[in-house]
Amino acid sequence: MKKWCIIPFFVPHQGCPHTCVFCNQQRISGVFSAGPSSLEVSTQIGQYLKTIPVDCRVEVAFYGGSFTGLPWERQRELLQPAYQAWEAGQVDGIRISTRPDLINPKILERIKALGVTTVELGVQSLDPEVLEVAQRGHGPEVVEKAVNFIRQAGMKLGLQMMIGLPGDNRERSYKTVSQIIKLQPDFVRIYPTLVIRHTVLERMFHQNDYTPLELDEAVEWTKILYLHLVAQDIPVIRMGLQTTEELLKPGEVVAGPWHPAFGELVQAAVALEQIEVLLKQWIREHPFCPKPLTTNTGLVTLLLIINPRYGSRVVGQHQRNFQHILKKWKVKFKLQTNDSIPVRDLILKDDENTGKITLNWQEFLANYRI
Ligand code: SF4
Repeated sequence: MKKWCIIPFFVPHQGCPHTCVFCNQQRISGVFSAGPSSLEVSTQIGQYLKTIPVDCRVEVAFYGGSFTGLPWERQRELLQPAYQAWEAGQVDGIRISTRPDLINPKILERIKALGVTTVELGVQSLDPEVLEVAQRGHGPEVVEKAVNFIRQAGMKLGLQMMIGLPGDNRERSYKTVSQIIKLQPDFVRIYPTLVIRHTVLERMFHQNDYTPLELDEAVEWTKILYLHLVAQDIPVIRMGLQTTEELLKPGEVVAGPWHPAFGELVQAAVALEQIEVLLKQWIREHPFCPKPLTTNTGLVTLLLIINPRYGSRVVGQHQRNFQHILKKWKVKFKLQTNDSIPVRDLILKDDENTGKITLNWQEFLANYRI
């Protein structure tokens, strides 16, 4: 399958009459200007096309803000050059992101006529109370309506959700994910809430009205949502905010689970869970072999065989996964790579070749199917 290559444009805060507590759209997107002109969109598409590999499916994406809340003239100004590139067969799709309450059949008809193929909705949560405290300005029913309109228009659908908003908890976000699964989006993004400078949330944080998630907590929480979604064949295309120059400036992220490679931390946590499932299975199947594993009296070395492309996630950042296994299970792994193993499968063997077990990715995901 061809890889998607994105030509991104950021259209900050324009058109959005709301002030969601977590949002300072300019700082998140890293764009302080009014956004690109038609000519800039056209030039940038041309420049990107020169560098994009030929075997890519190319999509022009307008991120940030609430695209369909912009005056129609401005939407047309941005979409026109992308549409021309689409008509010329240079790009395969156009994507916009917007609020659920800025979607209706007429809006969709207009943007579809200018080549928009995918609409991403900032859902954040489907819990009425969380939406209210976040000052989103609409309830969960509006999301369902917007999703139906997008489906009826025959467009692709992306949903963005957040964890750790004021009033949110694991139970509420699991419920949101199960509702998202029922809506069957083509893809999902998950963002842990950060306290960004000059937002309502910053004030709440300084007044002790809001406690952000710790990084480890956010990683664990996101991991479970991610696994539920991929177990239902819903791709999660991003976890954690994209790093921008603006976000990296000292003081921009006031507090919260910020990490430039948040998604990789989640993927490493997934790999760690797989390893632990495999070790439990090993103990069940080999109660006497090797003994130290069951008695925790000493170290034991086992051979872990993986696809080399899964290596960094299995080991974890700074060998964190292996250190955790050593401390908790008294097991040391010898790592062996093998190209022929499916990327997310794991094989465990002991040194004397008396036992071998495999954890297949789909088998592992079965625990997360609803
Ligand atoms: S609707 Fe979107 S752009 Fe507007 S304030 Fe909320 S998050 Fe920011």
